Amino acid sequence: KSLRDIDYIATLGAGASGQVELAVHKQSKSKMAVKIVNVFDEERRKQLLKELETLTTYVSRFLVRFYGAFYDGGGAVHVVLEYMDSGSLDEAIKVGGKVPEAVTKQIAMHCLRGLSFLHQYNVLHRDFKSANILLSRRLNRSKLADFGLAKELGEVSKAATFVGTMAYLSPERLKGSQYTTAGDVWGLGISICECLLGRYPFEKPDSYFSYLDNAMMGDSLLQDANISSEARDFLSLCLRVDPNGRPSAAELMKHPFVAGHDAQVREFTAWLEGVLQKKKQRLRSSKSST
Ligand code: ATP
Ligand code: MG
Repeated sequence: KSLRDIDYIATLGAGASGQVELAVHKQSKSKMAVKIVNVFDEERRKQLLKELETLTTYVSRFLVRFYGAFYDGGGAVHVVLEYMDSGSLDEAIKVGGKVPEAVTKQIAMHCLRGLSFLHQYNVLHRDFKSANILLSRRLNRSKLADFGLAKELGEVSKAATFVGTMAYLSPERLKGSQYTTAGDVWGLGISICECLLGRYPFEKPDSYFSYLDNAMMGDSLLQDANISSEARDFLSLCLRVDPNGRPSAAELMKHPFVAGHDAQVREFTAWLEGVLQKKKQRLRSSKSST
């Protein structure tokens, strides 16, 4: 199978489910990202590969393309993804701090386009967070990564994925209800808060109960934030404690905070270039100090 004809070049990062490698497809020379996940149980592996196959059908400009997955024969499943050249939104916020509102609008709109695309097929993202919003300088766009993967990989490494994602779980989900499209909208709300505040909006919780306490506060955490009234209104909708009161992704696309703001790429590009420059500087100074 041609999916396997790839050279692994470098490690891009590591997450709850495994590590992510930069790879080059031998024939086309195109770059790809490959997530390597250990699944030792053969039955599980077969099941996983079959279920992952369905994800290849969801193709959108606002979703990180899922090319497919294969077993390497040594206990690991390789999940082949579109390569995004500028890392994740959470890294960008760590390096660059607050994201300007003009840029945040654009990112929010990209996310809503990706999310509404998935939701129209009743596919849930299930792991919506700023670490799964990836950035591309080449395309001048952000895209959603790892949609639907949490469900499949969660079966494999339950504890690990769950802990990592608790910070983005909606109140209803923390109380044990089923995951729904409204849960994804909540995750979007938290991620957009991170952009505007430059940090995770809640105090770092130390237990399950404080995650729930935090989530029950909904949008009241934004009371003192220095943000526009449109941004505040948008977030108060995403972070409604009652999931039935939360608008859908398609509805949110019409909100004045985001409507019409994704056509313009100038602000996004300027911001991303600034972030990439800071990343480079950091890398240089960490090299020279060792
Ligand atoms: P989760 O397993 O819940 O998705 P995560 O998003 O923190 O957790 P990974 O998805 O494993 O972790 O990604 C780890 C790192 O690898 C990311 O921070 C990102 O920098 C990089 N990465 C992941 N996917 C890609 C991709 N498609 N293109 C480029 N870099 C990627
Ligand atoms: Mg991820």
